[in-house]
Amino acid sequence: MNDRPPNNFTEELHCSFCGRSSSEVTSMIAGPNVYICDICIQNSVEILRNNAAQRRNEAVATLLKPREITRALDEYVIGQDEAKRTLAVAVYNHYKRIQSQDLVGSLDDVEIEKSNILLLGPTGTGKTLLAQTLARVLDVPFVIADATTLTEAGYVGDDVETVLAHLLQNADYDLQRAERGIVYIDEIDKITRKSDSPSITRDVSGEGVQQALLKLLEGTIAGVPPKGGRKHPEQPLINVNTKNILFICGGAFHGMEKIIAQRLSSSTIGFTADETRRITEDESLFFEIQPEDLLRYGFIPEFIGRLPVVASLHALTDDALLDILSNPRNALVKQYKKLLQMEGKELEFTPEVLIEIVKIARERKTGARALRGIMEDLMIPTMYNIPDMADVRKVIVTSDVLTEGADPEYVLDSHSGEPHDNNENVPKTGS
Ligand code: ADP
Repeated sequence: MNDRPPNNFTEELHCSFCGRSSSEVTSMIAGPNVYICDICIQNSVEILRNNAAQRRNEAVATLLKPREITRALDEYVIGQDEAKRTLAVAVYNHYKRIQSQDLVGSLDDVEIEKSNILLLGPTGTGKTLLAQTLARVLDVPFVIADATTLTEAGYVGDDVETVLAHLLQNADYDLQRAERGIVYIDEIDKITRKSDSPSITRDVSGEGVQQALLKLLEGTIAGVPPKGGRKHPEQPLINVNTKNILFICGGAFHGMEKIIAQRLSSSTIGFTADETRRITEDESLFFEIQPEDLLRYGFIPEFIGRLPVVASLHALTDDALLDILSNPRNALVKQYKKLLQMEGKELEFTPEVLIEIVKIARERKTGARALRGIMEDLMIPTMYNIPDMADVRKVIVTSDVLTEGADPEYVLDSHSGEPHDNNENVPKTGS
């Protein structure tokens, strides 16, 4: 189309849309036998913008809202309310960002930046579980990677691209789905710069890996070997765009409390050495974290910049551990009840045995992670014996089973005769 002068001076052009004459408008654009005035062009742009906005609003309305996300997380993850809220908002914005890219395109000049997430908190408090549950709730492919096994390209270990290969695998090789998935990178605190290690070789485990990950976090097109494993010169690669992949990095960050405490004490006049020591031991300091603390911990500034959302997790209280045993949707107690139900039997744990399990878990200092092992040791004899005990209707696991290796209480079917003499217990493994 081009601005075209009227073909004779007596004829006045009229806009084919609104009928205005060329003398009523500032400019008139001509196409083959049609004309459009600047007013109609402006109105059309407005209509297109509104349509795009409406489509975007409709698309956003189909996204789970932050409150719905936290509600869904609550079914699987106990406590950690601040982290859940931060994650929910970040994830909501992330998928909104993707929707707006798809629908508005060049008509919109505001670009929403990607918000990858950093989770800090003691081991076994639900970092991985939160990321995993998010992916489940959002129905997107998910992969867990361990930062300590990653290396820069060319070194022995996994290239960062293998993480994407696994994501692609978990998306059943649906590239489009994989490109909107979630990657959880565990032990991110182990790839810090080791400035005090006098290594003459390159820093394979630290800064180099941060650099390699940085590219994925920012958004890049990575050539991924389709079947995982290392890149091979003759192998065709699949190009995976990481622009819309959400990266969640997690770590326990031992020693971070000290760095935060030092910063707080140096910026607050009048802290005594004793006070500094006290706050050093205070895990709630994690909630005061600032980017400069991550820098001091050994992350390069660009890497910190790519993880703009930071959420901290609490150490789990005894009550939370107790809750975790029984209440999440796939709680251990529920799982064992189901296993016995499949044998046609009821299973009950007394409140005392659950409290004992929590006590032992606490001593192991691995958060809720210890619960499964303790529970498995506790239940092996029962799970071994019960398939042969046809006359037992119900099993009650008391604290004596855990503390003294006693048999659980068996409630017999009312139709059966003598109480069951259970002498086939397997030896208990120490718990
Ligand atoms: P980490 O924080 O080290 O990533 P995980 O999320 O892997 O810990 O937790 C290990 C296991 O402990 C989980 O699989 C889950 O069974 C249990 N767990 C940990 N934290 C919670 C929690 N807040 N709510 C429910 N279960 C939890």
